[in-house]
Parts: sequence; C-alpha cells; structure tokens
Amino acid sequence: METLRFVVCGRPECRQVFFLCSACDRGRRYCGAACSRRARAESVREAGRRYQRTRDGRHAHAARQAAWRQRQRQKVTHPSPPPGAPEATVASEPVQPAMEADTRASSARPLPHAPPSLPTCAFCGRTSPFLRHTTLARTHLGPRWRRARPP
Ligand SMILES: [Zn+2]
Ligand SMILES: [Zn+2]
Repeated sequence: METLRFVVCGRPECRQVFFLCSACDRGRRYCGAACSRRARAESVREAGRRYQRTRDGRHAHAARQAAWRQRQRQKVTHPSPPPGAPEATVASEPVQPAMEADTRASSARPLPHAPPSLPTCAFCGRTSPFLRHTTLARTHLGPRWRRARPP
C-alpha cells in the first residue's frame, strides 16, 4: 500500500509543505523544480567561488568569451585595425539573460495553497490516505542535513 511522506521544502526561504510517494521520494528535498534549481544554483555558488558568482554570471562569461573569440578572429583577419574599430562591435552587444530566469523561478510556485482532500504526491500526483512523518531521505541525506557544520 502506498504511503506518502510529509515533507517540508529544504530551502529555508521556502518551507513549502508537500507530500512525496515512495517512488518519488528519492532524495528529493524541495517542493518543486524552481526550488531544486535554485538550491542547486546556490550550492554551485558555494562550491565554486572561483568560478563566476551565479549561473547568470556564467552566462555572461560565456557571452564575453564568444565576443572575445570573435574579436580574436577579427584581429587575425585584420592584423592592423584602426584604433577602436573592433571594440565597438563587442561593446554594442547586450548581455542580459539573467533577470528573466530569476523572475520565472520566483513566480513559479506549482503547489496550491489549499491541499486536496487526499494527500497527493507533489511530483506524480499519486494520492494516499496514509502518511508517514518518518523521513526515509534523512537516513542517507541526513548526516549532511542534521549536522551541517561539524564541531
Ligand atoms: Zn520550495
Ligand atoms: Zn510520486
């Protein structure tokens, strides 16, 4: 018999309550794609401070690299360009993919505030009258979650 687990979203900023069936309860800690994506972005930022700050930063970085490569090509084709000419093409290129993705993520709250009469898996829609608060995920994800900072 299917049971659903009562889960609170792992992002402290969200704390959305939702349910997971055992099939979907594979280390999920976030209420939806928006939160898991944001949490991933945050952990990437934590892990790789030597990289650009955010995903958006990497996008901008990639765009800058493309512009740089283009400039290199232009330098090769025109070994002695007039001063200022190749830079003009680079400067006129708008690099702004960041804010769009951010607003989408914050506005996408997939779960309704009023829960249905039966608890429903937030991911596959399975319903079950049986709930458990025992967290399966905590057994394998737990150590990191519980003691985030070793003494
Ligand atoms: Zn969430
Ligand atoms: Zn499910």
